[in-house]
Parts: sequence; C-alpha cells; structure tokens
Amino acid sequence: MKINLKSLTLKELEEFIFSLGEKKFKALQIFKWIFQKGISNFDEMTDLSKNLRESLKEKAYISELKLLNSITSKNQDTVKYSFLLEDQECIESVLMRYEEDLGIGRVSVCLSTQAGCARGCYFCASGKNGLARNLKFYEIADQVLKIQNLIKENEERAANLVFMGIGEPLDNYFEVIKVVKLLNEPNSLNIGSRHIAISTCGIPEKIIALARESIPVRLAISLHSADSEKRSFLMPVNKKYPLEKVLQACREYQQICKRRITFEYALIKDFNDAKEDADSLFKILRGIKSLINIIPFNPILDCKFKPSPLIKVKWFRDYLKNKGISATVRKSRGLDIDAACGQLRLKNVSQ
Ligand code: SAH
Repeated sequence: MKINLKSLTLKELEEFIFSLGEKKFKALQIFKWIFQKGISNFDEMTDLSKNLRESLKEKAYISELKLLNSITSKNQDTVKYSFLLEDQECIESVLMRYEEDLGIGRVSVCLSTQAGCARGCYFCASGKNGLARNLKFYEIADQVLKIQNLIKENEERAANLVFMGIGEPLDNYFEVIKVVKLLNEPNSLNIGSRHIAISTCGIPEKIIALARESIPVRLAISLHSADSEKRSFLMPVNKKYPLEKVLQACREYQQICKRRITFEYALIKDFNDAKEDADSLFKILRGIKSLINIIPFNPILDCKFKPSPLIKVKWFRDYLKNKGISATVRKSRGLDIDAACGQLRLKNVSQ
C-alpha cells in the first residue's frame, strides 16, 4: 500500500526518504512542497531528481481534500468552503477578510477539527447528526493549504487561524496540538501562535493541558450564559463539566500561562440578554483576565431562539464595559451563506 506523505512528521519523512536510499535533507524539500506550497503532485517538485520523483510515485502519495463547493457572501468578506475527506465525510472551513485587524491581504481561516461533533449544543448545527470521527492533523492542515492555494492569486495569505469550525477541538486534542505546531513551523506556513485561537465548549483538564503546551495559542471559551441551568440547556456539556469547574480551570490556566481568555457569548433574544444576565456574567468572571466577545446569535433550523436586536447587543456590550470588563461585538458574517458552524455540512449530509 502506498504511504501518505502528508501524514508524516518531518522526522518520519526523513526516515522514509532514507529508506529509499536517499539523503535525509531531501525530506525537508518535500516537506516544504507539501506544507509551505500546498503541492501534492510529485512532478511539480522540480528540485527533486527524476529518479526520486519516480520512486516517490511508486511508493507514496499525498492526500488532498476535495473541494465540494464554495459560497461567497454578497460583500465578499466571507467565503465558505465544503470539503470532502478521503472517506467521503464532509467538513467545512470559512475564510474571513478582516483587513482592519490583520492588514491588507491577510485573512483569517476558521477550521473544522472533527466531522460532526459529540457535544450537541442546542443552537449549533455542527452537532445535529452527532460525531462521525476526529480529523487527522493533516486533514486540518489541508483546509488551510487548500484555501491558501485558492487565494494566493489575489495576493492574499492565511495569517490567522481560528479553531471554531465544526467539532470540539479539545475532544481531538492530540491532532489539534500537532497541527498547531506544524502550521507554526517556519518550514510550513509559519503562522504565529498569537494568530492562532482555539475555541472550546469547556473541558477543564484539557484547558489546563493547553496552558502547559510550548505553543502559546489564544484560548476562547464558549460561555453563552453565566447561569448554570440556562447553560446546561444550551450546552449539555455543562452537566458533565459544570461552569464552576470550567472557571476554576480558567483560573489555573492563567496562573500557569498568564494569557487573557476570550469568553464567547451568543446573545439570544429574551434568554440571556437581560441586565441580570450581564450582572451574573460580571460576577463569575471576577478575578479572571477576560475579554467577552458578544456574538449576534445566528438562527439555525429547528431552533426556537432569535437574535437579540442590534440595539440590545450594543447595550449589553456597553453595560459590561461600564462595569470595567473588556467586551467586543463580533461582526456578524456570512449570514446570507449559512456560515454558522456546521450549517453547510448539515445540508450536505441531509441531502
Ligand atoms: N466546539 C467549539 C468550537 C466550535 S463553535 C466551541 O464550542 O467553542 C465556535 C463558536 O460559535 C462557539 O462559541 C459556538 O458556541 C458558536 N456558535 C455555534 N452556533 C452558533 C449560532 N447558531 N449562533 C451563534 N454562535 C454560534
């Protein structure tokens, strides 16, 4: 059976190249073709000898995600891609153009870490069909490589990564850390750790493990309510890992690595947008260096919730700010292209 070179670390690739009777340094050339230039065809690897290319073709291959379709929002600031994996599972990734934050030509890519999700949040389309499987690190990397190749003709570059697509990143911890380290490498896309954010529904022991990793990525916690009962309704994970345990893990995280934590809060009309909700939020985050990122709720099928009106969103932000908490409103994107997590996968799976 042919070996998939994309599934190998640089060290494993060196061993493989050595086993072909070649010099180890050739592995680095191949690694760069794969993870820096996004090339999967050996004939395009022009600095390798013809002999090496032929023996690679015989013994190896380089897997690639297959682009199923892409949809661009009317104002072109968001593009949603659906990809097919080798076993025909479907995932999606989103490109977001935030020029104001990142600079011209630098874009953000939102990545999936699982096909489906086991966490079943009430308002999230990703978990509606449960979890199919975890993604391998190279399937996560490939989302960036594919998008990078598609946008390079516009002189754009994937400069920011958010693990906020389909799946719970900390339920696929090992592969997520592996891909973060890989994409951070100077020999691959060289994306700075400050430009990588991992978002989680809140798994205490993994939050603490993240603090101890050598790569200082940013952490975001999906909070959505400071009230345990309401949070359990929105996010069943709260029954297994109650809010107090998650917040305790956040405190330990900050003791270890001192980094500020972002708390995501989707504002839902008449559910979590009242003054009492903001007050409880203020109370539970006391002592944690935090930023609250208010997300205008994105309505999905079969979900009775509605987004809070914009005026309420702004009021909520200003109320928190007046209490001394940093709070921002995430610009709503891609509403016209169903860009909330998992909405396209759900459509593709249900067809
Ligand atoms: N499983 C991870 C990452 C994926 S979801 C997590 O829970 O954080 C990324 C963010 O989008 C999360 O904060 C999630 O709660 C939020 N989200 C999912 N569906 C949404 C919707 N319909 N409207 C607004 N935010 C949503």
